[in-house]
Amino acid sequence: MHIKQVVIEGFKSYKDQIATDTFSPKHNCVVGANGSGKSNFFHAIRFVLSDVFHTLRAEDRQALLHEGSGNQVASAFVEIVFDNSDGRIPVDREEVRLRRTIGVKKDEYFLDKKHVNKSEVMNLLESAGFSKSNPYYVVQQGKIAFLTTMRDTERLDLLKEIGGTRVYEERRRESLKI
Ligand code: ATP
Ligand code: MG
Repeated sequence: MHIKQVVIEGFKSYKDQIATDTFSPKHNCVVGANGSGKSNFFHAIRFVLSDVFHTLRAEDRQALLHEGSGNQVASAFVEIVFDNSDGRIPVDREEVRLRRTIGVKKDEYFLDKKHVNKSEVMNLLESAGFSKSNPYYVVQQGKIAFLTTMRDTERLDLLKEIGGTRVYEERRRESLKI
């Protein structure tokens, strides 16, 4: 599984809709002048793949809406198109589109254009190896040092998340509650 394309509209510095070229499954570089939106682009990816595990308050969402010359857009979305030919995302399709749309009063998710709720998105991402507590898939500054110095039990938890098994442990725990 890899990100094939990212489509952004109204998010931070991206007012008009942009769609990236198709990404390589290997390495891709994002280049641009200072202030041209590189960090915002990575924030857009995190917005769909890791911010989903936390609650964004109305003020947080407002700060993400594009604002230019005193006008703020009413809504913004980021859509991530996955190449799912290895079936890592547990849906029976080779291409999967996950979109998050926000406004001051809304926060919605769409999976291949179908409206889905947040817990469905979290389950799907966790089954595909995305993680609730450790967004290891976006390696930010200082992260490598952190990985090398964490305790063995923490590293084991991280490996369970990467392997996509933690979600089943949680579901098992939930099922035993009843
Ligand atoms: P650098 O090379 O300096 O790291 P960068 O390419 O990473 O730059 P970003 O940090 O992604 O640049 O973009 C910064 C720009 O995004 C700033 O000009 C900032 O005003 C703009 N920006 C951030 N949030 C919004 C918003 N909500 N509406 C409009 N513009 C925004
Ligand atoms: Mg930057």
